[in-house]
Amino acid sequence: MNPLPQAAGFLVYARNFCMVNRKPKLQKKGERMTTNLRYELRCRECQTRWGNQPISFCQSCFAPLEVAYDWDRIRKEINKDEIARRPPNLWRYRELLPLPEQYDSSTPAGFTPLVHTVKLGEKLRSRSVYVKNDAVCFPTLSFKDRVVAVALTQARNFGFDVVSCSSTGNLANAVAAQAARLGFKACIFIPADLEPAKVLGTQVYGAQIVRIDGNYDHVNRLCSQIADKHRWGFVNVNLRPYYAEGSKTVGYEIAEQLGWRLPDNVVVPMAGGSLITKIYKAFRELIELGLVEEKPVKFFGAQATGCSPISAAVKAGRNEIEPQKPQTIARSLAIGNPADGFYAAKTILGTGGWAEDASDPEIVDGMALLAETEGIFTETAGGVTVAAARKLFAQGRILRDETTVLCITGNGLKTTDALAGRFEAVEPIAPKLAAFEQYLEDQFAGARAAGRGAA
Ligand SMILES: *Cc1c(COP(=O)(O)O)cnc(C)c1O
Repeated sequence: MNPLPQAAGFLVYARNFCMVNRKPKLQKKGERMTTNLRYELRCRECQTRWGNQPISFCQSCFAPLEVAYDWDRIRKEINKDEIARRPPNLWRYRELLPLPEQYDSSTPAGFTPLVHTVKLGEKLRSRSVYVKNDAVCFPTLSFKDRVVAVALTQARNFGFDVVSCSSTGNLANAVAAQAARLGFKACIFIPADLEPAKVLGTQVYGAQIVRIDGNYDHVNRLCSQIADKHRWGFVNVNLRPYYAEGSKTVGYEIAEQLGWRLPDNVVVPMAGGSLITKIYKAFRELIELGLVEEKPVKFFGAQATGCSPISAAVKAGRNEIEPQKPQTIARSLAIGNPADGFYAAKTILGTGGWAEDASDPEIVDGMALLAETEGIFTETAGGVTVAAARKLFAQGRILRDETTVLCITGNGLKTTDALAGRFEAVEPIAPKLAAFEQYLEDQFAGARAAGRGAA
């Protein structure tokens, strides 16, 4: 099925090399051109088509592959009213996803709330701030449930029994949970320093977990080598082009939930840089299909200061990424050598957006701000998004009278360790009214003393 990639471990290295030093392209036009397919893999650079198979790099020029669709066919089939009648989950956009003829759509992932966040908006002095709240995505409380839902349809299609991934935590949870539902075996590779809640939230589904003494970039490199040797479906390695398409559903939902309109700005957290490019792709597709009116949307990227290879590139006005060694509490974003960093920077710069990053204390403040104003408890990645948005508003890069959507991608209950020490330990009291009255008195006394201290 997949004749080539004995050398995919090498390809991973070679790809980043080729981004900068692009060799003349071997055009294989027509050779593998397949017709009559609803969708197929196509090289992002040399446009060679590769049909549908579990590969993620062009076998002639090493650039990443992307799914290309038969738009004429889709244009005839798709219809807003029909979409609106379907159940509220990501399968409602089935025509726009790379799904096999027969696929299991029983996992109702996606269609998370788009919340008009008035109080958060007041803090940012804007009336039109929205949160796309994937902190409550089904089944594992992060946007990774979307990408896994799509990738596993192809894992089944290609006949894999074992599914796998290299993960910064949320992907591990999503693969493990959905593998359990759909009857795959799951083997998950993670860096050794992941949050305990994310490790437990993988093991609970019966997945095999392999902890690697190294960072995500080490884990990912190992997974590319394993994918060559073992016939496993790695959702973010050999199934990556299909996986990445799942992220488009965030963009479709934002547009639909705004009444089939596009926002002026989106702020998106970046790890590998895939999500931000796919929201862009989703908006472009909706415009091409005539489902929304054409309008310029600015894309803003958010990273942690301790792992900011993409925002550093944007700030330097270039697309080429210089890898970093991650050091941040935002572990879900801790990818030092982002696979789609080049395209993420290009999307941001090409739309007139910008990127910002947030230090560890700013991340925690961002989590607290969203919780205190909107009752939304996000993980560290969401703290990065809120903190970056704050800076972008303050800098005047995001205008206050425009409509801005912040992508909140994960749930705070998975990263409670980031908040350790922020709140005082609460001592228990006796279950007696008198004890409570005494407690109130002590609180007032404490507050008065603090007030005097401050004055
Ligand atoms: C994976 C992840 C992201 C970023 O995804 P990329 O597509 O790799 O940029 C953002 N937020 C959370 C919570 C994630 O788990």
